[in-house]
Amino acid sequence: MTSRRRTVTAWVGHVPVGGDHPVVVQSMTNTDTADAEGTALQVAQLARAGSEVVRVTVNNRAAAAAIPEIALRLRDVGVDVPLVGDFHYNGHILLREFPETAALLAKYRINPGNVGAGAHHDRNFATMIEVAIEHGKPVRIGVNWGSLDQAVLARMMDENARSASPRGGTDVMIDAMIVSALESAEYAESLGLPHDRILISAKVSSAPELWQVYRKLAARCDYPLHLGLTEAGMGMKGIVASSAALAPLLLEGIGDTIRVSLTPEPGAPRKLEVEVAQQILQSMGLRQFLPQVTACPGCGRTTSTVFQELAQKIQGYIRDQMPEWKGRYPGVEAMQVAVMGCVVNGPGESKHANIGISLPGTGEEPRAPVYQDGKLLTTLKGPRIAEDFQELLEAYVERTYGQRAVEGA
Ligand code: SF4
Repeated sequence: MTSRRRTVTAWVGHVPVGGDHPVVVQSMTNTDTADAEGTALQVAQLARAGSEVVRVTVNNRAAAAAIPEIALRLRDVGVDVPLVGDFHYNGHILLREFPETAALLAKYRINPGNVGAGAHHDRNFATMIEVAIEHGKPVRIGVNWGSLDQAVLARMMDENARSASPRGGTDVMIDAMIVSALESAEYAESLGLPHDRILISAKVSSAPELWQVYRKLAARCDYPLHLGLTEAGMGMKGIVASSAALAPLLLEGIGDTIRVSLTPEPGAPRKLEVEVAQQILQSMGLRQFLPQVTACPGCGRTTSTVFQELAQKIQGYIRDQMPEWKGRYPGVEAMQVAVMGCVVNGPGESKHANIGISLPGTGEEPRAPVYQDGKLLTTLKGPRIAEDFQELLEAYVERTYGQRAVEGA
C-alpha cells in the first residue's frame, strides 16, 4: 500500500484533511436545512455515528438563516462537528447576505458547473471565493459529472473534434471534469485564496470512471481530494458499488476524505452512510473505529440460527457501547471478537481474536469454548450462552482497556 501522498493539508474547522492525516469520514444531511431542529438532530446523529465533518445543503435564504440556530443547538448538546455548506446557483448571494452563516460554516462546497453562465460564472465564483478569504475558510471545488460546467465541456469537445485522432466522449468528459476543477482552483488562487484552503472532488457514478478521474487528478495536483462515488444507489447495491469504487483508490493513497452517497431506505437512519465509510476504511486497515466481529458464514454443520443471532447481538452491542467505550477504554477499537459456528474453524479463529467463542455445530456436544488472548478461558453451556458470553466480553473490555486508561492517566 502506498502512503498518503498529498503534500497539502487543509483544515476543515478543527479537522485536518490531506497530508499524512488519516482519511476523514464525512456525510451529508437530507433534512430541510430550514428546519433547524430536525437538521441539528440529524447532524448530531451523524456525528455520534462517527462522521467527522457534516455537510448541509444551503439552498435558499431560509436554509442560510437557519445555520446559526443549527450551530447553537449542536453546541448545546455538545456536538462540535464542522459544518460544511453545500452551495449551488445562489451561493454568491447567500454567503454575502448571511455573514454569520458564512462565518459559522467550516467550509464551502462550490460546484463550478452551478455558479451561473458566461460573465456571471466568474463573477459569482469570485464572490464566493472572496467571502471564503474574508472568513478564512477553505472551499471544496466539487465537480460532478451530472452538473459539469457546460462551457468547459463544449470547449473540450470542440478541441477533441478538431484533433487528428479524436477520443471517445467519456474520455473527453473525464478530462473536462479535471480541467473544470483545476482551472477553478487556479482562478480561486489568483483571487487570493491560499493553496492550502482548497480541496477538490470530481465525482462520477461508475467505479471504473471514478478510478480514471481520480488517478489523473492525483497526478496533476497536490490538493487534498474528497473521494466518493456519487449517486451510489440504495442498500446492498450502493454499499458494494461504493466499496468497490473507493478501495482501489484508497489502496493507492488517493482520497483524503470520503463520503458514501447511499440512498436511504424510506425511514431508515441516515447514519448508515457513516457506518459503511468507516467499515471500508477499517476493512482496509486504514483506520480503526470499532472492534471487529469475525463470524463465519455458517454451513450445513450448523443448521440452527444460534450463532447468527449471537454474532448479530454482539455486533449491535459493541456498536451501541462504542460512544461510551471510546472515552473510557483507550484502544478498544482495535479489539477483535470472534463468533464461530462449529469446531472446524471455531477454536482457531477464536484463538486469533482477543476474545472468541466457538458455538456447537449440529450434532456436537452442546458446549461453547471461549478463548481469551489465545487461551481457553472457559466453556459455556446451557440456555444462557449468549448472555454469559456478553458478560465475559464486558469483563474483558473493562480489565484490558480500563487498565490502559488507568496507566495512561
Ligand atoms: S466454522 Fe463450522 S459452521 Fe462456520 S462455516 Fe466453518 S465449518 Fe461451517
